[in-house]
Amino acid sequence: LIAAQAYELRKPVYIVGGFVRDLILERPSFDFDVVVEGNAINLAKALEKNYGGHLVSHSRFGTAKWQIDDVRAELIRYLPGDGHFDAADLPESLDLISARTEFYEYPTALPTVERSSIKLDLHRRDFTINTLALRLDGRHYGDLYDYWGGMNDLRRGSVRVLHSLSFVDDPTRMLRAVRFEQRFHFRIEERTLELIAEATDLLRQVSADRLRHELDLMLSEENAAAMLARLDELGLLRAIHPDFIWKNEWRERLESALVKPLPAEWDLPDSAGHMPARRFIAYLLWLMQFPLEAGLAVANRLRFPRPMLQSIQAVSLIKQTLPALSSPRPSQVVNELDGVSPLALYALRLDGLAPNLEILLEQYIHRWRKIHPFTGGEDLNRLGLVPGPAYRQILTQLRNAWLDGEISSPEAEQLWLS
Ligand code: ATP
Repeated sequence: LIAAQAYELRKPVYIVGGFVRDLILERPSFDFDVVVEGNAINLAKALEKNYGGHLVSHSRFGTAKWQIDDVRAELIRYLPGDGHFDAADLPESLDLISARTEFYEYPTALPTVERSSIKLDLHRRDFTINTLALRLDGRHYGDLYDYWGGMNDLRRGSVRVLHSLSFVDDPTRMLRAVRFEQRFHFRIEERTLELIAEATDLLRQVSADRLRHELDLMLSEENAAAMLARLDELGLLRAIHPDFIWKNEWRERLESALVKPLPAEWDLPDSAGHMPARRFIAYLLWLMQFPLEAGLAVANRLRFPRPMLQSIQAVSLIKQTLPALSSPRPSQVVNELDGVSPLALYALRLDGLAPNLEILLEQYIHRWRKIHPFTGGEDLNRLGLVPGPAYRQILTQLRNAWLDGEISSPEAEQLWLS
């Protein structure tokens, strides 16, 4: 549809970047970046007028997102291969971009943007393997444009920047280079490695948000641990913060956090501090390997949310206090663990505990944390007690009595209270 519309407007249109790279590598990809040599917003408006959906456009960048989630069922009627496609096969939206070139006024600045040809648009990209373009309009349908040697590097398995200031323009590309290298089992090309060595220190100036975005992407990859190992090897983690490191011996733990299904019986929350649970656990497992001060310093550098800082502290404390309790009463264990995020306790479990401590943790999760007395604040009020801090004390003692088996029935609870 886009190709036909672009042809009608006499505008060359291309699908570029990751989709073409993955097509050649025969890896499935659902990531469509469409570049128009001309005004992408006009093309998107024509598509919206003819086929429905709606647009979100940014005139400064000449980009438009064509949202088609509510018209997908109608759109498949226009596709070839009678009934071959299902509405769910179509993406929810498509990004249409006007071919543009970018200038960086100073290192790490946001780029200044100008309209350009497809060739220059491809030149602003990170690596040659991401610069291939497939043309879609009219008789050019299927033509492959390879201005910057992308095909050669794909064949050789090389991750190569397009020019020597690439990492100076955008130091996050160093992290992207590692991600692509490890994902495809490629090698970062020699000169590109030298440029990384020269630009490493620039990571100090990169904002926590941008770094976290790149690290998040790595943690969603199958090869996450290999990527972190390579970041460490290249000195990129230490450039982010001097205490930030990765050791291969942490691999299994990280992978179990990222891959193993979360146990339903733990009733883990879906997220903490706006981070999905799995990612939260993975970062915590990583940061809790460091000495406490270093873990907190790295978490602060990356501006992790408060629950992460609290969990790092809680886990460090539990690691000291729990082993120090010899044959503890259940109430002692509960008093140590209550108030700590279950995600932090799960990270502690994945980290590996002595067998006796693991049993305590399991007992806490499956039984003890759920034990509460029948009596509440209102009952104490009815008994004529003046509301105040004593309430909490009495209720805690009452709960402790249940936990430690001194009370085992509602009658015994009443007796205890009286
Ligand atoms: P993935 O398969 O991980 O989604 P992708 O290649 O599709 O990788 P995106 O992050 O979706 O990458 O970006 C789309 C395209 O935009 C890339 O192919 C790349 O050419 C370009 N790009 C993305 N980030 C940068 C960057 N920091 N610097 C230069 N070009 C970039």
